[in-house]
Amino acid sequence: MLLFASDVHLSAHRPGAVAAFAEFLAGPVRRADRLYLLGDVFDLWLGDDDDRPPHPEVETALAETVAAGVPVDLIRGNHDFLLGDAFARRTGCRLVDEPLVIKAMDERAVLLHGDTLCTRDVEYQTFRRYARDPGIQRAFLARPIEERAREAAKVRATSSSRTRLKPEDIMDVTDDEVVRVLSKCGATRMIHGHTHRPAVHEFRLETGPVSRIVLGDWYEQGTVLVWDEAGCRLASPGSLSA
Ligand code: MN
Repeated sequence: MLLFASDVHLSAHRPGAVAAFAEFLAGPVRRADRLYLLGDVFDLWLGDDDDRPPHPEVETALAETVAAGVPVDLIRGNHDFLLGDAFARRTGCRLVDEPLVIKAMDERAVLLHGDTLCTRDVEYQTFRRYARDPGIQRAFLARPIEERAREAAKVRATSSSRTRLKPEDIMDVTDDEVVRVLSKCGATRMIHGHTHRPAVHEFRLETGPVSRIVLGDWYEQGTVLVWDEAGCRLASPGSLSA
Protein backbone atom coordinates (compact mmCIF):
# COMPACT_ATOMS: atom_id res chain seq x y z
CA MET A 1 0.00 0.00 0.00
CA LEU A 2 1.24 3.45 -0.93
CA LEU A 3 0.02 6.60 0.79
CA PHE A 4 0.11 10.15 -0.56
CA ALA A 5 -0.59 13.49 1.09
CA SER A 6 0.04 17.14 0.30
CA ASP A 7 -0.99 20.63 1.38
CA VAL A 8 -1.01 19.89 5.10
CA HIS A 9 0.17 23.51 5.59
CA LEU A 10 1.50 22.81 9.07
CA SER A 11 1.91 25.91 11.20
CA ALA A 12 1.41 27.05 14.78
CA HIS A 13 -1.91 28.54 13.60
CA ARG A 14 -3.30 25.08 12.76
CA PRO A 15 -2.85 22.86 15.84
CA GLY A 16 -5.63 20.59 14.52
CA ALA A 17 -3.68 19.80 11.36
CA VAL A 18 -0.47 19.27 13.36
CA ALA A 19 -2.24 16.73 15.60
CA ALA A 20 -3.99 15.01 12.68
CA PHE A 21 -0.71 14.74 10.74
CA ALA A 22 1.11 13.30 13.78
CA GLU A 23 -1.66 10.72 14.23
CA PHE A 24 -1.51 9.87 10.54
CA LEU A 25 2.27 9.31 10.72
CA ALA A 26 2.06 7.22 13.89
CA GLY A 27 -0.97 5.21 12.67
CA PRO A 28 -1.96 4.39 9.07
CA VAL A 29 1.46 5.34 7.64
CA ARG A 30 3.15 2.58 9.67
CA ARG A 31 1.25 -0.02 7.59
CA ALA A 32 2.29 1.58 4.27
CA ASP A 33 5.15 0.51 2.03
CA ARG A 34 6.00 4.15 1.40
CA LEU A 35 4.65 7.64 2.04
CA TYR A 36 4.82 10.32 -0.62
CA LEU A 37 4.48 13.92 0.53
CA LEU A 38 3.72 16.09 -2.49
CA GLY A 39 4.51 19.57 -1.23
CA ASP A 40 3.28 22.28 1.11
CA VAL A 41 3.55 19.98 4.11
CA PHE A 42 4.74 23.12 5.90
CA ASP A 43 2.89 26.39 5.54
CA LEU A 44 6.16 28.32 5.55
CA TRP A 45 9.73 27.01 5.57
CA LEU A 46 12.34 29.75 5.75
CA GLY A 47 15.36 27.40 5.60
CA ASP A 48 16.59 24.35 7.50
CA ASP A 49 17.38 26.55 10.53
CA ASP A 50 13.67 27.48 10.72
CA ASP A 51 12.84 25.83 14.05
CA ARG A 52 9.67 27.74 14.84
CA PRO A 53 6.92 25.51 16.29
CA PRO A 54 5.64 23.08 15.15
CA HIS A 55 8.70 22.29 12.98
CA PRO A 56 10.79 20.40 15.58
CA GLU A 57 7.91 18.13 16.62
CA VAL A 58 6.98 17.42 13.00
CA GLU A 59 10.61 16.56 12.21
CA THR A 60 10.65 14.14 15.15
CA ALA A 61 7.42 12.49 13.97
CA LEU A 62 8.85 12.12 10.44
CA ALA A 63 12.15 10.73 11.78
CA GLU A 64 10.25 8.16 13.89
CA THR A 65 8.26 7.09 10.84
CA VAL A 66 11.39 6.58 8.74
CA ALA A 67 13.11 4.79 11.64
CA ALA A 68 10.09 2.47 11.91
CA GLY A 69 10.88 1.32 8.36
CA VAL A 70 8.54 3.42 6.21
CA PRO A 71 10.45 5.43 3.58
CA VAL A 72 9.17 8.98 3.09
CA ASP A 73 9.71 10.70 -0.27
CA LEU A 74 9.07 14.43 -0.31
CA ILE A 75 8.55 16.89 -3.16
CA ARG A 76 8.82 20.56 -2.29
CA GLY A 77 5.77 22.81 -2.71
CA ASN A 78 5.48 26.54 -3.28
CA HIS A 79 5.31 27.16 0.49
CA ASP A 80 8.17 24.88 1.56
CA PHE A 81 10.50 24.94 -1.45
CA LEU A 82 13.43 25.84 0.84
CA LEU A 83 13.43 22.40 2.48
CA GLY A 84 17.04 21.28 2.15
CA ASP A 85 19.69 18.70 2.89
CA ALA A 86 19.88 19.38 6.64
CA PHE A 87 16.13 18.72 6.97
CA ALA A 88 16.58 15.51 4.96
CA ARG A 89 19.46 14.38 7.20
CA ARG A 90 17.57 15.11 10.42
CA THR A 91 14.36 13.34 9.36
CA GLY A 92 15.57 10.65 6.96
CA CYS A 93 13.04 11.90 4.38
CA ARG A 94 14.25 11.72 0.79
CA LEU A 95 13.87 15.06 -1.02
CA VAL A 96 13.06 14.39 -4.64
CA ASP A 97 12.81 16.65 -7.67
CA GLU A 98 9.57 16.83 -9.62
CA PRO A 99 8.21 15.39 -11.77
CA LEU A 100 8.86 12.08 -10.01
CA VAL A 101 7.95 9.02 -12.06
CA ILE A 102 7.16 5.88 -10.09
CA LYS A 103 6.11 2.38 -11.08
CA ALA A 104 3.42 0.91 -8.87
CA MET A 105 0.77 -1.79 -9.31
CA ASP A 106 1.97 -2.34 -12.91
CA GLU A 107 1.41 1.33 -13.77
CA ARG A 108 3.58 4.36 -14.37
CA ALA A 109 2.54 7.40 -12.37
CA VAL A 110 3.95 10.91 -12.36
CA LEU A 111 3.98 12.82 -9.08
CA LEU A 112 4.33 16.56 -8.67
CA HIS A 113 3.22 19.36 -6.39
CA GLY A 114 1.02 20.91 -9.07
CA ASP A 115 2.06 24.56 -9.24
CA THR A 116 4.05 23.96 -12.46
CA LEU A 117 0.81 22.82 -14.13
CA CYS A 118 -0.84 26.22 -13.62
CA THR A 119 0.81 27.74 -16.70
CA ARG A 120 -1.91 30.37 -17.25
CA ASP A 121 -0.72 32.14 -14.10
CA VAL A 122 2.21 33.78 -15.87
CA GLU A 123 2.90 36.15 -12.99
CA TYR A 124 3.27 33.24 -10.55
CA GLN A 125 5.49 31.26 -12.93
CA THR A 126 7.81 34.27 -13.19
CA PHE A 127 8.03 34.47 -9.41
CA ARG A 128 8.64 30.72 -9.25
CA ARG A 129 11.63 30.91 -11.60
CA TYR A 130 13.11 33.69 -9.46
CA ALA A 131 12.46 31.94 -6.13
CA ARG A 132 13.89 28.61 -7.36
CA ASP A 133 17.14 30.17 -8.62
CA PRO A 134 20.02 28.62 -6.59
CA GLY A 135 21.90 31.93 -6.36
CA ILE A 136 18.82 33.82 -5.16
CA GLN A 137 18.18 31.07 -2.60
CA ARG A 138 21.77 31.13 -1.29
CA ALA A 139 21.59 34.90 -0.79
CA PHE A 140 18.17 34.64 0.90
CA LEU A 141 19.27 31.84 3.25
CA ALA A 142 22.35 33.86 4.27
CA ARG A 143 20.16 36.59 5.75
CA PRO A 144 19.05 36.52 9.42
CA ILE A 145 15.87 34.50 9.90
CA GLU A 146 13.90 37.54 11.15
CA GLU A 147 14.65 39.31 7.86
CA ARG A 148 13.64 36.23 5.88
CA ALA A 149 10.35 36.10 7.81
CA ARG A 150 9.63 39.77 7.03
CA GLU A 151 10.43 39.25 3.35
CA ALA A 152 8.19 36.14 3.18
CA ALA A 153 5.32 38.03 4.83
CA LYS A 154 5.66 40.78 2.22
CA VAL A 155 5.64 38.30 -0.68
CA ARG A 156 2.64 36.58 0.81
CA ALA A 157 0.63 39.80 1.29
CA THR A 158 1.27 40.79 -2.33
CA SER A 159 0.45 37.34 -3.64
CA SER A 160 -2.82 36.98 -1.71
CA SER A 161 -4.08 40.41 -2.75
CA ARG A 162 -3.29 39.55 -6.40
CA THR A 163 -4.81 36.08 -6.06
CA ARG A 164 -8.13 37.66 -5.08
CA LEU A 165 -8.16 39.54 -8.39
CA LYS A 166 -7.36 36.54 -10.57
CA PRO A 167 -10.13 34.59 -12.30
CA GLU A 168 -10.57 31.10 -10.81
CA ASP A 169 -9.54 29.23 -13.95
CA ILE A 170 -6.13 30.94 -14.08
CA MET A 171 -5.32 29.32 -10.75
CA ASP A 172 -6.23 25.81 -11.88
CA VAL A 173 -4.11 23.47 -13.98
CA THR A 174 -3.87 23.87 -17.74
CA ASP A 175 -5.16 20.79 -19.59
CA ASP A 176 -2.44 21.07 -22.27
CA GLU A 177 0.28 21.03 -19.63
CA VAL A 178 -1.27 17.98 -17.90
CA VAL A 179 -1.29 16.09 -21.21
CA ARG A 180 2.24 17.22 -22.05
CA VAL A 181 3.66 15.99 -18.72
CA LEU A 182 1.74 12.69 -18.81
CA SER A 183 2.99 12.02 -22.35
CA LYS A 184 6.56 13.08 -21.67
CA CYS A 185 6.71 10.77 -18.64
CA GLY A 186 4.90 7.92 -20.39
CA ALA A 187 2.52 7.78 -17.42
CA THR A 188 -1.11 6.70 -17.18
CA ARG A 189 -1.66 8.41 -13.84
CA MET A 190 -0.81 11.82 -12.46
CA ILE A 191 -1.00 12.63 -8.75
CA HIS A 192 -0.65 16.17 -7.43
CA GLY A 193 -1.93 18.72 -4.92
CA HIS A 194 -1.58 22.50 -4.77
CA THR A 195 -5.00 23.54 -6.13
CA HIS A 196 -6.85 22.25 -3.03
CA ARG A 197 -9.53 20.79 -5.32
CA PRO A 198 -9.55 17.07 -4.43
CA ALA A 199 -10.91 14.95 -7.27
CA VAL A 200 -10.25 12.01 -9.55
CA HIS A 201 -10.35 13.11 -13.19
CA GLU A 202 -10.52 10.28 -15.72
CA PHE A 203 -10.07 10.91 -19.42
CA ARG A 204 -8.62 9.41 -22.59
CA LEU A 205 -5.52 10.21 -24.56
CA GLU A 206 -4.63 8.68 -27.92
CA THR A 207 -2.58 6.13 -25.98
CA GLY A 208 -5.52 5.05 -23.80
CA PRO A 209 -7.25 5.91 -20.52
CA VAL A 210 -5.44 8.08 -17.99
CA SER A 211 -6.32 9.66 -14.67
CA ARG A 212 -5.34 12.76 -12.74
CA ILE A 213 -5.79 12.57 -9.00
CA VAL A 214 -5.79 15.80 -7.01
CA LEU A 215 -5.12 15.68 -3.28
CA GLY A 216 -6.90 18.11 -0.99
CA ASP A 217 -5.62 20.24 1.87
CA TRP A 218 -5.80 19.56 5.61
CA TYR A 219 -7.66 22.75 6.63
CA GLU A 220 -10.75 20.79 7.71
CA GLN A 221 -10.42 17.02 7.85
CA GLY A 222 -7.51 16.32 5.51
CA THR A 223 -7.21 14.21 2.38
CA VAL A 224 -4.95 11.29 1.67
CA LEU A 225 -4.67 8.99 -1.31
CA VAL A 226 -4.46 5.25 -0.78
CA TRP A 227 -3.07 3.18 -3.66
CA ASP A 228 -3.04 -0.59 -3.38
CA GLU A 229 -4.04 -3.68 -5.40
CA ALA A 230 -7.67 -2.54 -5.14
CA GLY A 231 -6.86 0.74 -6.90
CA CYS A 232 -6.59 4.42 -5.97
CA ARG A 233 -8.97 6.13 -3.61
CA LEU A 234 -9.11 9.44 -1.78
CA ALA A 235 -9.87 9.14 1.95
CA SER A 236 -9.73 11.17 5.12
CA PRO A 237 -6.76 10.24 7.32
CA GLY A 238 -9.12 9.58 10.24
CA SER A 239 -11.01 6.95 8.25
CA LEU A 240 -7.79 4.91 7.91
CA SER A 241 -7.07 4.74 11.63
CA ALA A 242 -9.62 2.07 12.49
MN1 MN B 1 0.95 24.77 -3.22
